[in-house]
Amino acid sequence: MVAATHLPPLALDIPTLSFVAVGLSGLLGVFLIFAWLQHRDARALAWWGAAYLIGASSMAMWGAPAPWFKMPPEIVEALTFVACGVVWNGVRLFHGRPVLPLGGLAGALGWLVLTQVPALPVGSQTRLAVAAAIVAAYTFIVAFELWRERRKSFFSRTAAIFVPGLHAMIFLMPIAMQALLPERYADLWLTVFTLETMIYAVGTAFIVLLLVKDHDRQVLRNAATTDPLTGLLNRRAFLDNANRLCAGQGRRGGSVTLLMFDLDHFKSINDRFGHAIGDEVLRVFAQVARTSMRANDIVGRLGGEEFAAIVPGGLDVAAKIGERIRAGIETCGATVCAHAIGATVSIGAASIAGPVMEVGPLLVRADAALYRAKHNGRNRLCTADVEPDVIRVEETASGRRADDPGQASAKIIPIGAAEAWGR
Ligand code: GH3
Ligand code: MG
Ligand code: MG
Repeated sequence: MVAATHLPPLALDIPTLSFVAVGLSGLLGVFLIFAWLQHRDARALAWWGAAYLIGASSMAMWGAPAPWFKMPPEIVEALTFVACGVVWNGVRLFHGRPVLPLGGLAGALGWLVLTQVPALPVGSQTRLAVAAAIVAAYTFIVAFELWRERRKSFFSRTAAIFVPGLHAMIFLMPIAMQALLPERYADLWLTVFTLETMIYAVGTAFIVLLLVKDHDRQVLRNAATTDPLTGLLNRRAFLDNANRLCAGQGRRGGSVTLLMFDLDHFKSINDRFGHAIGDEVLRVFAQVARTSMRANDIVGRLGGEEFAAIVPGGLDVAAKIGERIRAGIETCGATVCAHAIGATVSIGAASIAGPVMEVGPLLVRADAALYRAKHNGRNRLCTADVEPDVIRVEETASGRRADDPGQASAKIIPIGAAEAWGR
């Protein structure tokens, strides 16, 4: 029998490990740049790929045998901080923010200045601590960039938790090991650091690809659901969302109200001021509608100069919102792009108090109320009463156009929902 020999606790050969780490980071860098070539609009991929290659170069210089190749250590370390800065700027670019070159280089430049101080000799604890602090600072701002975009995607949120966690483990653990482990294990940190770097490199490359994929899906979804001119939901997305809201409210036994908007004499606005100004009026409407509604309300463009909104709640609540939008358009549409446009909007509202699972019947009734609003002089809100068999219409107070003499005072059966508005 051969007696068991006692191996050292972690018998891993550092030069081999470093070689694998350099190879892995370099390969992932090339892989990310290749992904960018397939995906030219995701420029962040190129930045992150470059960061991997810079990181791999700095590791290679660090591990290169002295007689063949020796860079001043501060240059090699500064390269690591350049890689951190490139990662950070990649994240900014990914979220549509401008690149900050000086911020990206600040760590490296600061390091080159600091290492001129004799109190930071190569291999000292203080030097390691300062280096870790610079990396931690970049980690913090990367996490911050991801965190402030957390609402946009699930992966941004996940990455915001994992990236700083991993980073902290890698760059702060060596310090802890140096400080806490007994003397004879003090060098073990280098082994752990190299192993961690490899896990980190693979892990972050994976997160990066998930982020890009998630971002792509988001862009496609936005393109399929958003009206490009106004940024509001398009017709299909509005109807989908409205049906969902109806079904949800129906299950809870709550009511929903639909508001239909049609800009008044819009053809004449186009004819008098041009199509581009007409487009601007549509954007003004979208802005007024967005700012006049609550978080749960849904607004979309049905087509042309017609819009719709659906809100949880009865006619009283919806009428307040509609009236706010009507008055808002009267104010904001008075002058657009220095032209005295005098844009106004007519609104039809219809509500269902009982369980309703889809928006179709509401659209028909709101459209009929909108027709009344047009017929009765425009720039006003009319509501269809809750009973579906008899459409009774009530008006809110509104301005009166010069071409609608006397019509504004037309009043049709002030009962039902109209009483709820205190009229
Ligand atoms: P009313 O008060 O009865 O609603 O009259 P109107 O002129 O607003 O209605 P009409 O349906 O006659 O005209 C709508 C116009 O909207 C006609 C069309 O050229 C214009 N339009 C539709 N889509 C757009 C768009 O995207 N941009 C611009 N500028 N105009 C549009
Ligand atoms: Mg119309
Ligand atoms: Mg119109």
